[in-house]
Amino acid sequence: MNDYLRLMYKDCKIDDKVFDLCNEVEESLKERFQAIDEVAEYNQLKVLAAMRKNKVSDAHFNDSTGYGYDDIGRDTLEDVYADVFHTESALVRPNLVSGTHALTVALSANLRPGDEILSPTGKPYDTLEGVIGIRETKGSLAEFGITYKQVDLLPNGNFDFDKIKEAINEKTKLIAIQRSKGYQTRPTLSAGRIGVLISYIKMIKPDVICMVDNCYGEFVEVIEPTDVGADLCVGSLIKNPGGGLAPIGGYIVGKKEYVDNCAYRLTAPGLGKEVGASLGLNRSFFQGLFMAPTVVAGALKGAIYAANIYEKLGFKCVPRGKEERFDIIQAVTLESREAMLAFCHGIQEAAPVDSYVVPEPWAMPGYHDDVIMAAGAFIQGASIELSADGPVAEPYNVYFQGGLTWYHAKFGIMNSVQKLYEKGLILQKSEEK
Ligand SMILES: *Cc1c(COP(=O)(O)O)cnc(C)c1O
Repeated sequence: MNDYLRLMYKDCKIDDKVFDLCNEVEESLKERFQAIDEVAEYNQLKVLAAMRKNKVSDAHFNDSTGYGYDDIGRDTLEDVYADVFHTESALVRPNLVSGTHALTVALSANLRPGDEILSPTGKPYDTLEGVIGIRETKGSLAEFGITYKQVDLLPNGNFDFDKIKEAINEKTKLIAIQRSKGYQTRPTLSAGRIGVLISYIKMIKPDVICMVDNCYGEFVEVIEPTDVGADLCVGSLIKNPGGGLAPIGGYIVGKKEYVDNCAYRLTAPGLGKEVGASLGLNRSFFQGLFMAPTVVAGALKGAIYAANIYEKLGFKCVPRGKEERFDIIQAVTLESREAMLAFCHGIQEAAPVDSYVVPEPWAMPGYHDDVIMAAGAFIQGASIELSADGPVAEPYNVYFQGGLTWYHAKFGIMNSVQKLYEKGLILQKSEEK
């Protein structure tokens, strides 16, 4: 480590003791980081190949307004996404306003009254409970006569193949598979495991639609769920594939028939993909996708760095420091309210935007306990940017993710350690042992 770098961290108010601990951890991660860089390199070439094949040019960055007929930028962007995910078709739009909305469109477009959804990976992401109608909600799929079944993962994290087989019936139309653990403690699924699950399900019912909620999973591995049999794959552009540059948006990729259905639901039957002005966002979407493999690599390094540091300090981490990982989310059990606030304070203070504010827990609609959120992002709510949040209650789990650059993720984590240190919550503690 260069002296000027050490001095710079000192200028940034990182104590020597904190710096040394973090530095030691970083040294031990060289090989892991190299493997992450190789995945990023592979995915960079994959994205580049798709852009070169589709002859992306300056003309594709022009905006369209009104109906958005013949928006060649939008259409080419969708071709690029389809090539990156190796699918027949793609819908990539700013008027898919979030991940939840993209998933809502994918579900409501491909289901009809009397159809049933099966989730073989346990409880879906919180917001989807309302969409499906697991939690009674106006406009839910349940109100349209679409039913829902769920099979939980086994305690060891494996699929419950027997129960899945039992649950599939003549009404089962769509299988909803969630790749990332979201705010649960189950392991995130690798694309490989998703492939095994899909093969099994298709053996039982070949014509069922297998849809994967790919949020937080894009570009973490060299393959995507669509490479292992997923018929539809859905995600948010203010997470991984927007590369931090997309200011809004969602994507749906997959079989043409199913993606067309999504377009008819998003715009109007008969109009589909032909309409929808891009309003000048094409350039950000293209450039964000181009940056995404590198940005995801930085976020992954940050997650692994955080897990290894906090584990060393004696906190429980999911995934564990040495574990292989398939999304960019890191959970740390901080064991006290004080530690949780200090952690989030450290992340916030390290941000490029709103570094001067101190996050406070507050009562958020839909949550039992007060929630604290640290984020100083260029794009509101973008969780590909360095951010941390969690319910301020036992066992004080903080969920940490993102970082547009590895250096920012690194400093954010170091600063969170610094805050815990200043509060007397760590290091002194470990010396006493
Ligand atoms: C973020 C997320 C969603 C919802 O995305 P929003 O953009 O927040 O609506 C759905 N599923 C998973 C697994 C997610 O991580």
